[in-house]
Amino acid sequence: MIGAERFRTHTCVDAADASGETVRVAGWVHRRRDHGGVLFIDLRDRSGILQLVIHPDAGTVLEIAQRLSPEDVISAVGTLVARSAETVNPRIPTGGVELRVTGLQVLAEAAPLPFSVEDEHTQAGEELRLTYRYLDLRRAPLLRALELRGQVVRAIRGVLEAEGFLEVETPMLTRSTPEGARDFLVPSRLQQGAFYALPQSPQLFKQLLMVGGIERYYQVVRCFRDEDLRADRQPEFTQIDIEASFIEPADIQHLVEAILVAAWDQADIRLATPFPRMGYAEAVRRFGSDRPDLRFGCEIHDWSQAAGSSGLGVFGGVVGAGGVVRAVVFPGAGVGLSRKDLDGLVVEAQELGAKGLVWAVPGEAGALRASVKAEFLAGLADAVGAGPGDLIAIVADTEPAAQHVLGAVRVRWADRFGLIPDGVWAPLWVVDFPLVEWNADQGRWDALHHPFTAPRPEDEDGLQSNPGEVLAQAYDVVMNGLELGGGSIRINRTDLQERVFSVIGLDADQAQERFGFLLRALDLGAPPHGGVALGLDRLVMQLAGERSIRDVIAFPKTATGSDPLTGAPAGVDAPQLRELGIRSTVSPAEGQRA
Ligand code: ASP
Repeated sequence: MIGAERFRTHTCVDAADASGETVRVAGWVHRRRDHGGVLFIDLRDRSGILQLVIHPDAGTVLEIAQRLSPEDVISAVGTLVARSAETVNPRIPTGGVELRVTGLQVLAEAAPLPFSVEDEHTQAGEELRLTYRYLDLRRAPLLRALELRGQVVRAIRGVLEAEGFLEVETPMLTRSTPEGARDFLVPSRLQQGAFYALPQSPQLFKQLLMVGGIERYYQVVRCFRDEDLRADRQPEFTQIDIEASFIEPADIQHLVEAILVAAWDQADIRLATPFPRMGYAEAVRRFGSDRPDLRFGCEIHDWSQAAGSSGLGVFGGVVGAGGVVRAVVFPGAGVGLSRKDLDGLVVEAQELGAKGLVWAVPGEAGALRASVKAEFLAGLADAVGAGPGDLIAIVADTEPAAQHVLGAVRVRWADRFGLIPDGVWAPLWVVDFPLVEWNADQGRWDALHHPFTAPRPEDEDGLQSNPGEVLAQAYDVVMNGLELGGGSIRINRTDLQERVFSVIGLDADQAQERFGFLLRALDLGAPPHGGVALGLDRLVMQLAGERSIRDVIAFPKTATGSDPLTGAPAGVDAPQLRELGIRSTVSPAEGQRA
């Protein structure tokens, strides 16, 4: 072990194997107990906890020990002995031994703590925990998450290195890379008025590396996207970024499967390969999502035809206007739900975007409890395969809206009603994405992935005439309903790249201005290539069983993008701004209020 013997000869956990020996350990005072003159101190270091015992006849050692506060940093020397049978603690690896202390040194004192780090679970609010993140890091769950993260990265690097991938760094100060978010900008001092953008991903550089003949690239890389933050978003996050030349989608998919198998292995979970594949259209139709959670059923049923003639005005109106009526069955979930519960579910569905929601719970012998007259739902239970006690959720709307709402309701309620089995891992490749989607607000086509994604060769001809029907050579990998990553085969011909730019509304001049460097590179011998990027934070979050990526990032930002520890983002001095040629029109305080 690296370290100075002046401080320690063993970690807490290694010390436990040194029975009878004199050992020195160092760490934090985790807990102190006084048992009628005998002092017990739980000493904590990164490896774990070791019990120190100080007897009443220990003289100055006892005096020092009596003055210790929680989280003081100490070094202790003594003899490692077996605990008496009645004090053995089978719950921790060092629970059979203790250190009989003969020497004790205080290395640093700790002032009273803003919150206790003694317990696995803390009541402290997130703002406080982030302000004192270094204290929070001392708690076991966060340490375990960071250890798992480190192990996962090591395992992933192992797979990639074994396959001949070369880790290459790409610039952080660069031009905008369109991944669908806003850029973080960095003003240039040397060229006032000009800005760098922090990369939303290394997308263009990894493609240029392929043009440069690197053939197999990877990078564990920070990406920056300025978007409104949600539970699983951070302004900066880490990707395992990969690109390779002379490959097909299946090659990347096999590689990603090997990576995920190695990552899950770090948590002693064996993933079966190959992962199943599902087309985007099928995923949306059956599950209302392009990242379906396949751990449970509750698929979306179409009941439009029957609903249209059911006699219920809303159904008739929606179907008459070209909309749909779709339903999801939650097995057994209707049992014991009160009217109030059911009304609550309707409100929840509205919060998820539904205009309204009709619910129904079949009873015995054809009976039906429902939010509308049962006669309007005749035949529904049979059509959607629902039995007594099942809860049926029905939405009538345009097809995209109904699918979207039922997709969200499906996941939320399956969780609520305990229909998602524990310990099941359901990986999936979603393939055959459309190349572009219609942006109704802006009145134009947007790239669904990014504009460098290649269409299927057989669809190229339809690019101008029927862009909405063109499918991309893109693939997303999904685990239990979470998108872990995605990628595509890229365009490697200038003419095709220019055509795709024009579909998404970039004319030749704009394309030259923004992406001239790429178009030139594609003209100078660009091999067929493609790749993928995996979201490391999400992947580790899922493996660690956490619900927020903040719990697997050492120093994350809050939902408003700030870091309570350092106070970032913060105002800067006027001279600093002047050097950059920038005048701010708002003060940071005003900006916060805005
Ligand atoms: N650059 C893409 C992203 O960040 C991934 C890829 O296409 O490789 O989502």
